[in-house]
Amino acid sequence: MILSRYILIALRNHGSTRMIRGINNPILRRTLVLTGGALWVFGHLNLFRNREQYFPRFELLLSKSCPLNCKCCIHFLPDYHHNAEIEPAESVVNNMKKLLEAIERMDEVIISGGDAFSYPHLALVVKYLLTSDKIGMVTIVSTGAVSPDKDVLALLSNKKIQIQVDNYGKYSDKISEFTSLQSPSVNIEAYDTWDDYGNELSRGKNTEQLTVQYGLCKKERYCMMNGKVYACPRSAHGEALGFFVNDESEYIDLNKISNSKEVLSEIRRLRKISHLTACNHCDSCTEKFKTYSLNVRLKD
Ligand code: SF4
Repeated sequence: MILSRYILIALRNHGSTRMIRGINNPILRRTLVLTGGALWVFGHLNLFRNREQYFPRFELLLSKSCPLNCKCCIHFLPDYHHNAEIEPAESVVNNMKKLLEAIERMDEVIISGGDAFSYPHLALVVKYLLTSDKIGMVTIVSTGAVSPDKDVLALLSNKKIQIQVDNYGKYSDKISEFTSLQSPSVNIEAYDTWDDYGNELSRGKNTEQLTVQYGLCKKERYCMMNGKVYACPRSAHGEALGFFVNDESEYIDLNKISNSKEVLSEIRRLRKISHLTACNHCDSCTEKFKTYSLNVRLKD
């Protein structure tokens, strides 16, 4: 009943009711009311948004440094040994511009890595992201173990920005700097467990097994690192660390593309991929996947 009323109100607002009342066949009239109204409702809920050009979440992997040194990190971060190259802000911004020109919308851009606050040019990148009307919200993810950058904190008055702090207890030794901020833009979440995605070695799976695993995982964690768009952060970091070589079909190299038509066709291609090389180096969605308590999560 409530849905029918909502649909009728929607149609009335669109001036379609007069036309429908003129139809004598009650079944046809009812069908038209329900179909037209449902289309209007779904349209307003963005359910028919062009899926190819829409990202509910998109991650920017800016920092390759994390103070926590966790065992079996999904991003392999301890394996960088603090030697990772720092991506210039200009290149991050230019590649995001290319991507945004080709798409309609990103509801949320999540800046992670590593600890996002370890990235020295964070404020410059965030300032650019805030200028784009295609981005709904910018979330900066921190471990609570790196002091917030004052230039980024100065941006907290912007309603599009939020800081997500994962509180790992004694490991998050800068947490008081975040709690004292008392800003609605700072969201602190406590963690007492840690997911184990396994080491970097090959599991020797065949294509069929990998396709099943990827289908089950479906994290849809599209992300960008060093100008390449990947379907999963483990794919990006594993390649950067030389643990495996991704097939060219598993990423979009924005550094080699100059027009949005080509970017869009590459997005379509990436969305259809059946599995990733990285899945052969990952225990997610398998019986080997484990969750540990915090006291065994750090590497020696
Ligand atoms: S199974 Fe594949 S897609 Fe899922 S987290 Fe692992 S590497 Fe990423």
